[in-house]
Amino acid sequence: MKELLQNAQHIVIFTHMAPDGDAMGSALALWNWLNVPEAQLNAAEPQCKRAGSASVHVIVPNAFPAFFNWMPGADKIHVYEKEHTACDVLIAAADLFICTDFNDPKRIGPMGDKMLANPCPKILIDHHLNPTDFADEIHSHPEASSSCEIVYKLLFGDQSAISNEVATCIYTGLMTDTGNFSFNSTRAELYDIIAELLRAGVQKDAIYDAVFNQYSEHRVRLTGYALYRKMRIYPEHHLALITLSADELEQYHYQVGDTEGLVNMPLQISDVYYSVFMREERAKPGTPKSRIRISFRSQGDRPVNIWASEVFHGGGHANASGGEIFGTIGQAVALFERTYKKYLKI
Ligand code: 5GP
Ligand code: MN
Repeated sequence: MKELLQNAQHIVIFTHMAPDGDAMGSALALWNWLNVPEAQLNAAEPQCKRAGSASVHVIVPNAFPAFFNWMPGADKIHVYEKEHTACDVLIAAADLFICTDFNDPKRIGPMGDKMLANPCPKILIDHHLNPTDFADEIHSHPEASSSCEIVYKLLFGDQSAISNEVATCIYTGLMTDTGNFSFNSTRAELYDIIAELLRAGVQKDAIYDAVFNQYSEHRVRLTGYALYRKMRIYPEHHLALITLSADELEQYHYQVGDTEGLVNMPLQISDVYYSVFMREERAKPGTPKSRIRISFRSQGDRPVNIWASEVFHGGGHANASGGEIFGTIGQAVALFERTYKKYLKI
């Protein structure tokens, strides 16, 4: 990886659609690490030079939630949906790609084909199962809590690379991908990493506050509405479903990220082990159908990823998956009701 970095002049870092804290954290940790001014590097150790790069850019497929705006470097991120012409130029000119927190070019939308059209080396850093075979240098660790954990190990093997910015980005991904250390977080090693990050000056309570305690009033009321009026329980299957239409979202002034985490809430009910959330995105001009974005969560030995991939064109982790259909919420619910008995254990 060092060799690839040293030979690179124009690095582009990608992460997945609807970026979450781990996507943002892993991409920005690398961006901050690569952007260390050369003067600050250890002159005695020329191999510490991060990259021969003249430029490093992070490109995300679509907008990220405003509660990540504070992250170091977030203001420099390019959003493909908003500036695709400029991004296409960067992608075509790149001589190294780094792909974080996704396992298939499809997860970066239309940029996937553009990346593949550029034959330059590709580095994959990810914790999803079974990456497709598109990268040259693969750091795939499904046992890791998060992609940020893998970035930590790659960068901090020698302890010399810890800056507060990098550590802050990494902590954000560890925290969000484990639900503030409530799942995927039982390995003691994770807490050794956190201890190192705290020593590097990470303000963990401030990061929690920035991500989880800065919501709008509309968002909190939307959560209340969804749980009170829109949650259906299928008791014999320990299953909950929440749907929100585009009209309902508009009524609550929906902003990107406002329903983040909502799918986990029905799992707080003692007999509910599966939870599904459907959100309607109104059809874009020129396209006939709405997109229904679907999130799946489960607890314990009850995988939802097969259901997500075979029925809803998605996939993901055993206990956290996503998918989509194009049509109405009613059609998505009908498909859900026709198939859940086949895919879910009782
Ligand atoms: P979320 O419900 O937060 O959007 O997605 C949960 C997890 O499911 C993500 O971390 C990702 O691993 C996976 N995921 C979401 N959407 C898709 C998709 O369309 N395809 C695949 N393969 N995985 C997805
Ligand atoms: Mn992740």
